[in-house]
Amino acid sequence: GHNNLNAKLVLLGDMGTGKSSLVMRFVKGQFLEFQESTIGAAFFSQTLAVDDATVKFEIWDTAGQERYHSLAPMYYRGAAAAIIVYDITSSESFGRAKKWVQELQKQGNPAMVMAFAGNKADLEEKRKVTAEEARVYAEENGLFFMETSAKTSVNVNDIFYEIGILRDRI
Ligand code: GDP
Ligand code: MG
Repeated sequence: GHNNLNAKLVLLGDMGTGKSSLVMRFVKGQFLEFQESTIGAAFFSQTLAVDDATVKFEIWDTAGQERYHSLAPMYYRGAAAAIIVYDITSSESFGRAKKWVQELQKQGNPAMVMAFAGNKADLEEKRKVTAEEARVYAEENGLFFMETSAKTSVNVNDIFYEIGILRDRI
């Protein structure tokens, strides 16, 4: 039969890693070189066909700055899924992403589907975080991992699709 499902999803990660750009690519199919930085959080929704179901993603795109940190639980507490984003050209953002994973493991919904996204995969020449170290970390922590590019659109729909497939847990 046909199932229509809703999935609340939150994007977390350092400022500048490309969270808003991933959402813009997924929701509007576009990319801006000068994406405005997010203030507080922004809401989007997009529906995706996954097998015989449609999943309506209700997406909270958070700001990422430390000064908004105290607001984050409001967005992740009720969420069925999270995408934790780092920038493959920034080791610091990788460290921050791991901190977000720890926080979700401690305080998030235990059934939450967590995706780990190494964004800006198009910037191979500036890479600081290897795919291998991220993959090992993700495996150890039960996250699924993809490198993405909001710019070229590599793996952007795919990461949402994978979350949709895990909808039984949502
Ligand atoms: P946020 O703070 O995490 O929401 O990051 P933004 O989406 O605002 O992106 C920060 C900057 O990185 C912007 O200038 C984007 O154009 C750029 N950006 C985002 N995603 C990518 C990507 O996949 N590749 C490249 N080359 N730049 C990106
Ligand atoms: Mg943003």
